[in-house]
Amino acid sequence: MTRACDPREATLPLVEIFETIEGEGAAAGFPTVFVRLFGCPLRCTWCDTTYSYAPHQAETTLTIHEIAKRVSVYRAIRVCLTGGEPLMYKERSVALLHALAALPHIVDIHIETSGAIDIAPFLQSVASDKVRYIMDYKLPASGESDRMHLPNLGLLRAHDELKFVIANAEDFEFACRVLETYRPRGTPLFSPVWGEMEPKELARRILERGLSQVKLNLQIHKVIWRPDQRGV
Ligand code: SF4
Repeated sequence: MTRACDPREATLPLVEIFETIEGEGAAAGFPTVFVRLFGCPLRCTWCDTTYSYAPHQAETTLTIHEIAKRVSVYRAIRVCLTGGEPLMYKERSVALLHALAALPHIVDIHIETSGAIDIAPFLQSVASDKVRYIMDYKLPASGESDRMHLPNLGLLRAHDELKFVIANAEDFEFACRVLETYRPRGTPLFSPVWGEMEPKELARRILERGLSQVKLNLQIHKVIWRPDQRGV
């Protein structure tokens, strides 16, 4: 992944760019610009962004330079690069990260990635300490558990996050086993599948198990706005 992309020529398919309040993870509650790229190789059963991949279509296609320019219009100093799967465009994803990291006012770029893409080339190619990863580990109820690229677990750093979206008791046990087996760095986030696992049920399990390093991760944007509302 060393081939350079010209940010004024290389393009990416996009769903949306908007400013909102980050709903999850370490940046939850902060104003954040969301850059949602189009396309994802997975099909999680509970996916809440099905509009970000086929048979839907990209809303637009912009050059990397244009995307960075649109981000700079907003006042938020944090960026969430999401999808879909924002790392599926390899060299172009790297070039976008370089362009975003070069924006002087931006202090944090967190990438929501599915866990199915090898993050090693990105860690090698993008040295900026503004850039960090929020990696999903897809559990059995997602239907995509077999797609996880397990070496990623050994690559996460202290300021990265590892998110488990939990639908049921089996998912919870699976997530606990992943943490015990691989002991990854980064903050583990346990998130309930909206409408399937009650937050208080997940809270109870975390407390009962004494998971003192685990953070209960609720999607506060679904509390502030309607759960199915887009662009917020
Ligand atoms: S990886 Fe994310 S965008 Fe892709 S299907 Fe799963 S939840 Fe949806």
